[in-house]
Amino acid sequence: MKATVMYGAHDVRVEEVPDARIVDPTDALVRVTRGSICGSDLWPYNSMPASQVGNRMGHEFVGIVEDVGAQVRSVKKGDLVVAPFAWSDGTCEFCEQGLQTSCLHGGWWGGTELDGGQGEAVRVPQADGTLVVLPVGPDHALMPSLLTLSDVMGTGHHAALTARVRPGVAAAVVGDGAVGLCGVIAARRLGAEQIILLGRHPDRIALARQFGATEVVSERGDEAIERVRALTGGLGAHSVLECVGHGEAVHTAISIARAGGAVGRVGVPQQETIPDARPGFYANVTIAGGPAPVRAYMYELMPEVLEGRIEPGRVFDRITTIDGVPDGYRAMNEREAIKVMIKF
Ligand SMILES: [Zn+2]
Repeated sequence: MKATVMYGAHDVRVEEVPDARIVDPTDALVRVTRGSICGSDLWPYNSMPASQVGNRMGHEFVGIVEDVGAQVRSVKKGDLVVAPFAWSDGTCEFCEQGLQTSCLHGGWWGGTELDGGQGEAVRVPQADGTLVVLPVGPDHALMPSLLTLSDVMGTGHHAALTARVRPGVAAAVVGDGAVGLCGVIAARRLGAEQIILLGRHPDRIALARQFGATEVVSERGDEAIERVRALTGGLGAHSVLECVGHGEAVHTAISIARAGGAVGRVGVPQQETIPDARPGFYANVTIAGGPAPVRAYMYELMPEVLEGRIEPGRVFDRITTIDGVPDGYRAMNEREAIKVMIKF
């Protein structure tokens, strides 16, 4: 089968790999029908040291169950399923709490040991605790939006929840990538009255406005901080969704939170420390967030997609085949595309 393998920075290849197959009785074999490239894939795309073996890529996918192990009960051959960006057993202490990204027996797709979603098929460990059945066919018109339940929509929702968005608040979203745009959808859905997007790309800003952003701040650094403060009566935002991960973005996020406010971090941190310890402390700003338990959020968000109340699939502005994946990385990295969908 074909799969995407990253061998180093700017070195993404599509090549023949051993066919995915059932190994453990809790596995399912899924033939991928849709996958995508994530903004977080761009971190290794720009920084991965050269490797001889390479890393299998992709953690967002929808597909058809081709086979299941003897102990799998919740999915069967022929089901169309969506996979969260982390796999999980569904039964441990943390899964019971709805925090599947901390599953005691779970893990992450791809790397050197497992298949990834940017390939033709995937061995899914812990299938019962991982996969969720979609009640539609593989070419349904809502497929782009359903695919975002794998990661970006659930991650935007997590940013909004951990930033404590609630009716009437002023929310600010740092970052205009697919997660930031989904954060706008989530903030609106949870009742934010004001939604300020911090971003600089015209196509993304236009989409953010359609998703519910009420204001856009395109300045950077101190100017951006001053602008957000001016837009919030000098006080700052109650809820800040940090959807980037590098130091300047986190600094901006903490600096635009009002006293007693919260920052929900979903951008993968690109440094070891959180900036602004002292001003954040004196303002009683809550710093929360982490990898989103999107598996838990699927049950809440899927009906919203199926009933047409949210359309996160609009973040996909390019579709490619498996052979076009390396160029998809390039296009996203050069901000030529917001998010690339892979159609198998
Ligand atoms: Zn678990």
